[in-house]
Amino acid sequence: MTASTRRGFLHTALSATAGLAAWDPAQGAATQGPASAGTTPQPALRVNHDLHTHTIYSDGASSIPLHILEARAFELDAVAITDHYTPGSKISESQAEFDRYVAEIERERSAQQDVTVLKGAEATALDATGRISIDEGHAAKLEWVLCDLGGLSEGTLRNPPADKQKYVENVVRTYLGLCDVTYLDAIAHPFNTGNTRPAAFPADYPPRFLRELAAKMAAKGKAFDVMNDMIYWFHQSSIAPRELTAQYVELVKLFAAAGVVFQVSSDDHRTGLGNTRWAQLVLTRALVPAQQIVDPRQIASRQK
Ligand SMILES: [Zn+2]
Repeated sequence: MTASTRRGFLHTALSATAGLAAWDPAQGAATQGPASAGTTPQPALRVNHDLHTHTIYSDGASSIPLHILEARAFELDAVAITDHYTPGSKISESQAEFDRYVAEIERERSAQQDVTVLKGAEATALDATGRISIDEGHAAKLEWVLCDLGGLSEGTLRNPPADKQKYVENVVRTYLGLCDVTYLDAIAHPFNTGNTRPAAFPADYPPRFLRELAAKMAAKGKAFDVMNDMIYWFHQSSIAPRELTAQYVELVKLFAAAGVVFQVSSDDHRTGLGNTRWAQLVLTRALVPAQQIVDPRQIASRQK
């Protein structure tokens, strides 16, 4: 390559970059380029947080000090510690354990300034009305409350109806109910309905149900957790991984179009803290704009 063609190549590369959103390390999220960038390919959206993780206070592997040390080593902007608050779990069954959990997060996070650490919990839906496993008083002691569908969620993951249509209706009705829980912040790994009989894949949800839910989540400010290990929730089903990704991207597009905000997470239980590769790939393919990503620094600074 001659000097002139090399210069020409660099010039072309720079021009191609000029109109695009720029990754701003100080901001922790991509800042959008000018509107004229609409015709050029969007750059990868980078989100540097992990807002759904577990420690030894539920079924995670790490102590809180080690967990925060890892978040610092991985240079995350923010991590939410969201141990299970469900019937039978340590922090749900014992007030002393709950208090110790909150105090330990507060103590350990204040001993460093590298990463924003949020006090959180992951509750579970108990039935299709949207009743959840954490009460308002305990939620008030926390900064980031998630709720999932799990093995205690009657009518969805617990005793799913044999009729798939009824099943997906129950799932959406449950999520609609969760939107009315004022102290809930985010729905954990939504549509994790692949390991049940019947299995419900993202494409099995009628768009009219999804649009109703998306509008309510946007209106009530409930975040959509794009959890990295979604394939886990489909590993007993027949869906191919890339097909799941394609279907999930379409789901995320629909929720993004309604103005829903998103977070990314590893749902770390063992060694995956900060691993949000798939989640970011989904948000990027769904063209979710940076303004629709949760900003953990705002959460940390708000009064609750
Ligand atoms: Zn979890």
